Amino acid sequence: MTTPWDIDDDKLREECGVFGVIGTREAAGTTALGLHALQHRGQEAVGITSFDGAEFYSKRGIGHVAQVFAGAADFAELPGAMASGHVRYSTTGGSGLRNVQPLFADLASGGFSIAHNGNISNAMSLKRDLVQKGSIFQSTSDTEVIIHLVATSRYPTLLDRFVDALRLVEGAYSLICMTAEGMIACRDPLGIRPLVMGRIGDAIVFASETVALDVVGAEFVRQIEPGELVQVDHKGTISSHRPFGAPSPRPCIFEHVYFSRPDSVLDGHSVYSVRKQIGMELAKEAPAEADLVVPVPDSGVPAAIGYAQQSGIPFELGIIRSHYVGRTFIQPSDGARHADVKRKHNANRALVEGKRIVLIDDSIVRGTTSMKIVEMMRDAGAAEVHMRIASPPTDNSCFYGVDTPERSKLLAARMDVKAMAEFIKADSLAFVSIDGLYRAVGEPGRNKACPRYCDACFTGDYPTRLTDYAERDDAAQLDLQVPQAVNA
Ligand code: AMP
Repeated sequence: MTTPWDIDDDKLREECGVFGVIGTREAAGTTALGLHALQHRGQEAVGITSFDGAEFYSKRGIGHVAQVFAGAADFAELPGAMASGHVRYSTTGGSGLRNVQPLFADLASGGFSIAHNGNISNAMSLKRDLVQKGSIFQSTSDTEVIIHLVATSRYPTLLDRFVDALRLVEGAYSLICMTAEGMIACRDPLGIRPLVMGRIGDAIVFASETVALDVVGAEFVRQIEPGELVQVDHKGTISSHRPFGAPSPRPCIFEHVYFSRPDSVLDGHSVYSVRKQIGMELAKEAPAEADLVVPVPDSGVPAAIGYAQQSGIPFELGIIRSHYVGRTFIQPSDGARHADVKRKHNANRALVEGKRIVLIDDSIVRGTTSMKIVEMMRDAGAAEVHMRIASPPTDNSCFYGVDTPERSKLLAARMDVKAMAEFIKADSLAFVSIDGLYRAVGEPGRNKACPRYCDACFTGDYPTRLTDYAERDDAAQLDLQVPQAVNA
């Protein structure tokens, strides 16, 4: 049986971070700094492309930003006042340098580089058509489809070709592109993945999250609106285009739950405050008789603070995290992931012994982390362990660029909450409700007719067509609820 994650072999899924700057000396150095602040969005590979007014230069490598861009010599290879870069998330299959972004091509109109955060959900069917018509692909990345669509478009200007290409693309994309004329930043019509604009002096900066603006010393200007395309030329002239009309935006709510850094501001909301508020909602919805509120660090910390404040139960660090191990998910194989949970977290035995603990984490995906952490608390002598999760049960896969496994591996897709509690061996288990999550982002609740966010991982309500997945033999098992018309 094929599962969506067999698509891993084609590496069509990525969760990533993008950054670009135009109009500053040492653009590549600024880009590396910005990417460093976005490292949490992708730790597998990094690349930077620069332009010096005549030529494009590129350096890409496997590893963290600080490993690939270690010193002055690396930046000497990347001259120019315009640069953009990309950090890429791990995928479970092997990964070649050829998939590391930004991707670059010499088109009839000149050089074109592209850095993409998101996932194109009809990339495979588009690619099939393009290959039949003679396109020769150099990578297995979904992003390359856009390059070929731009290359083969019949429109006269690059901008028109780009828009023409994007009209054919479905799914999630926040893009930073460069041509000899300047930079183009663009967000898909639903704005599923974030993208913001900032300014340092006369230079314009684009980044996945505001934290990258803070770190490079840029002031936040505004977010790129869903469906908006912003062009900046070398004189600093900015023009905005809305080629896709104005559909109702559906930004990803999981960015608030887990993906973005807590010091970022997303869609006008502090990520930290939202996470804390989710914890408060959770405490109201799922109280527990306990002595201590303990976060699973770091992802559970803000929600645990909120839970503790709301419930009046003291917040304590009952688990200490090693900072020398990356995110659990980054490890491609299940075996490596298991070992990592232990290397990453250790119980603070002196604190938890004999205590009734409320453990807070942001999400349960496969259940590996929760199971290990509950066991760790018990081994350390905790009297009771009540698990509380700062998101609803994740029972659907994401096809928009957040790395979730196939549905059959999602614990919530396999069992109900009671069975999940038994599986992770917790005394009790509760998740915040979908309405509670929406309240935390300032909504009255989830408006079923017109949800404000993409929450497909929790509800199965996908806001775009999922052509590649709907065509699959096992599509019925994916149980996809997708609209007929998309990207209107
Ligand atoms: P699991 O052990 O499979 O249940 O994964 C749950 C843990 O992974 C939680 O502690 C989350 O903080 C983290 N997590 C959830 N979603 C993701 C994701 N898309 N990428 C990386 N980590 C994640």
